[in-house]
Amino acid sequence: MPAITNHMPTAELQKLDAAHHMHPFTTGDELAQKGARVITRAKGVFLTDSEGVEIIDGMAGLWCVNIGYGRDELAQVAARQMRELPFYNTFFQTTHVPAIALAAKLAELAPGDLNHVFFAGSGSEANDTNIRMVRTYWAMKGQPDKKVIIARKNGYHGSAMGSASLGGMAAMHEQGGLPIPDIHHINQPHWYAEGGDMTPEEFGLARARELEAAIAEIGEDRVAAFIAEPVQGAGGVIIPPETYWPEIQRICDAHDILLIADEVITGFGRTGNWFGAQTFNIRPDIMTIAKGLSSGYAPIGGSIVSDAVAAVIGSGEFNHGYTYSGHPVAAAVALENLRLIEEENILGHVRDVAAPYLQQKWEALTDHPLVGEAKICGMMASLALTPDKATRAQFAAEAGTAGLICREHCFANGVIMRHVGDRMIIAPPLVITPDEIDILIERAVKSLDGCLADLKAQGLLKAAA
Ligand SMILES: *Cc1c(COP(=O)(O)O)cnc(C)c1O
Repeated sequence: MPAITNHMPTAELQKLDAAHHMHPFTTGDELAQKGARVITRAKGVFLTDSEGVEIIDGMAGLWCVNIGYGRDELAQVAARQMRELPFYNTFFQTTHVPAIALAAKLAELAPGDLNHVFFAGSGSEANDTNIRMVRTYWAMKGQPDKKVIIARKNGYHGSAMGSASLGGMAAMHEQGGLPIPDIHHINQPHWYAEGGDMTPEEFGLARARELEAAIAEIGEDRVAAFIAEPVQGAGGVIIPPETYWPEIQRICDAHDILLIADEVITGFGRTGNWFGAQTFNIRPDIMTIAKGLSSGYAPIGGSIVSDAVAAVIGSGEFNHGYTYSGHPVAAAVALENLRLIEEENILGHVRDVAAPYLQQKWEALTDHPLVGEAKICGMMASLALTPDKATRAQFAAEAGTAGLICREHCFANGVIMRHVGDRMIIAPPLVITPDEIDILIERAVKSLDGCLADLKAQGLLKAAA
């Protein structure tokens, strides 16, 4: 019956993959030589590859499978919705029940007056929506020049032209003529790498005040919005110092700048609350959502918008939308995902069980000779690898060399951890149990040991000058 088979030999699958499948963020030639790892099934927090090897997924797919793999309820809802109404659009004064129900549920869960949802198919699309929405908002209020959006270096907001422009990834800007006009980047609150002799608190304030300086330089009447992730994810799980967000909120309020919280990773329980905005006590005008919204079971994203912004946008026609905005199957799956998160008190599990346990185990990793810093916020965590703990030194080797070696050991040891440069990061499914956390940590330690041995053997355990 199925056209796609798991019983084809791995080597053949890899050959077909290399011949026809272009992978995101991958050097194709390198992967073709090596062969991609083929994942065939998953259950709970464990993946199985085409060789039958079991791997614990420390990344919840790509920060998205919050509820864990293999939830039959979501499959049932998708099948039912496909039979009843597989597609209808939400353009031109039509709607359908899944989009209505999901929008209403998100308005209930979102803090403050964030009561309106514009749906997209992904986080990238949602951030492209946000660019047009905030600029349109100010234009409709008679300030068409208030269109500059301030974002951060090493932020990640997606891969489409607009969202990648908001992002501050230099390697992305190098390809394809980015950024688009009127996007301005300030420095990130990354104390470990960039804090120098300042305390984290001083550094957090200094980095937040770069926003105020940028507004002064560009002109308050030209700045539409500031966008940031409550905790940087793809940038390396960078948790800002405690002083950072209160100062950012003060600056946005003082200068009449809209605040966009990109909650694509931090939303839906990742930090122990429904949204990172609640964990960091901020009041965004717009929140970007995707990933955990459906636990990755269906592609869906969106923007949750305040009463004030929605009122202005609604006063005219917003010439914007995606065929799959509010897709009924994706919306039904997302709604069921949210229902399960509530019914099973998964946020309670994160707050009372999983996050405290993971924190204790994770922070103990600072005893490892390679680990300069172990940081955690809810169920997202990072390790800074270093050749010299005392000075927070970088490696002499090209950035990412040690991280890649460690990642390869993780793969070999049956744990998915990602590396961002020489930081190792995790964001496991929120449903992970203490026993499973033990397995994850045991394999992580084994991988750190293997990495350390390799670095020594290859003479790479040297600090940059
Ligand atoms: C993944 C991510 C995005 C992009 O979402 P896609 O669904 O991949 O388009 C945007 N913002 C943040 C913070 C992300 O982590």
